Amino acid sequence: MADTEKLHCSFCGVEKSPQVPLISGSEGRICEACVKLAFQVVGSWGQRRRNQARAPELRTPAAIKQHLDEYVIGKDVAKETLAVAVFNHYLRLMNQGQQPFCQQQGSVELEKSNVLLAGPSGTGKTLLVRSLARVLGVPFAAADATTLTQAGYVGDDVDSIIARLLEAAGGDVEQTQWGIVYIDEVDKLAKRGGGATAVRDISGEGVQQALLKIVEGTELKLPKSGRRRDGGEELTVDTGNILFIVGGAFPGLEDVVRDRIRPRQSSIGFLNSPTDEAPPVNELLSALQPDDLQKFGLIPEFIGRFPVITFLQELDVDTLIRILTEPRNALVKQYRQLFAYQGVTLDITDEAIRFVAEQAVERHTGARGLRAVLEAALRSTMFSMPSTSGLRRCVLQLRHEADNTELEVVTLTGEMADAPPLPQAIPESLSLEM
Ligand code: ADP
Repeated sequence: MADTEKLHCSFCGVEKSPQVPLISGSEGRICEACVKLAFQVVGSWGQRRRNQARAPELRTPAAIKQHLDEYVIGKDVAKETLAVAVFNHYLRLMNQGQQPFCQQQGSVELEKSNVLLAGPSGTGKTLLVRSLARVLGVPFAAADATTLTQAGYVGDDVDSIIARLLEAAGGDVEQTQWGIVYIDEVDKLAKRGGGATAVRDISGEGVQQALLKIVEGTELKLPKSGRRRDGGEELTVDTGNILFIVGGAFPGLEDVVRDRIRPRQSSIGFLNSPTDEAPPVNELLSALQPDDLQKFGLIPEFIGRFPVITFLQELDVDTLIRILTEPRNALVKQYRQLFAYQGVTLDITDEAIRFVAEQAVERHTGARGLRAVLEAALRSTMFSMPSTSGLRRCVLQLRHEADNTELEVVTLTGEMADAPPLPQAIPESLSLEM
């Protein structure tokens, strides 16, 4: 009897008493304090497991770039910059909370590596970021800065971007907090000193301030949106760890950098000697500094939150040719498929492809212009094809006439369709649709 009363907690050894009851197991006992401690320990395991389960699969920058290569042609510097920024971002997040003591002792606290992508429209900024989110398997939301307004004005306020991210994450707050947000056309938020360009001024700066708040990290209360409407129930999303990537064309940015590197001469004569030639765009843009953006009209606090800056150059003809033909869903493949659904083979000569790319360069529309050129060239064929019987093959080629060069479609029926690929001259007997 006497020794059964001397019971102890098997973990901390505390003796059983009216104030310290023990829970008995088959081989030992545990006191309340040890149960609480064990609960905390197990809870932290759960959190860590949940974080690991929800964290994107951390790939090396090289692997991220390799995946981007499948969707985006060229742009190696931008891809590498993004791959490194994203790798560091998620590395930081995954290790967050695992070394609380380091942080308490004031050791290095890593800052978010938000990215600013500058480059003309249609150079693949959105495509890059969208592909990145796909590679990483994190929720992604894109917004256009020009549609954003300060809270209280008509239009989308900046919170709506996070609401969209929450929706992309299926209402899962933790997933949302791992997400990537892309905001395009931030250059339109610039407040310009002087100049006649009518860009939004005060409201632009107001939106910059509002964006700054969510980029720096704030807790937003958002309606539980998506599939379920829960009678006004709200979710709190902390934006502190969301990766923000902003993009913009920044027209005139090159001039700002050029003027800094090599101030303009006051004399009237220009480009007199080869040494007066403007430095190549790559050189200019690799010399890009945050201050240049400030001159351009972004507020310093905003720029400061985007420590990684990269530039996408306008696409050249050779890159556009690769864009037309190489990616998984390249335009040429898409049109060939569209024709194939109707039992027609579409051939596009190399010369025609180059011409399409040259037209897009001339129009300064980047890769976006490619579709417009192809669509215009193929429109009438696509209009008549479904009602033309016996059509088996179409060739998109160039027609050279005097000084004029145009795209034309040659349509072939019956045996003609089995002929080897057409020479550029058009046989008399072929019916022309354009
Ligand atoms: P931006 O955001 O710079 O204005 P986008 O990313 O929207 O340009 O590009 C428009 C379209 O052009 C994309 O949907 C894509 O089909 C094509 N495109 C642009 N750049 C590339 C590229 N480097 N590689 C492959 N496709 C591209």
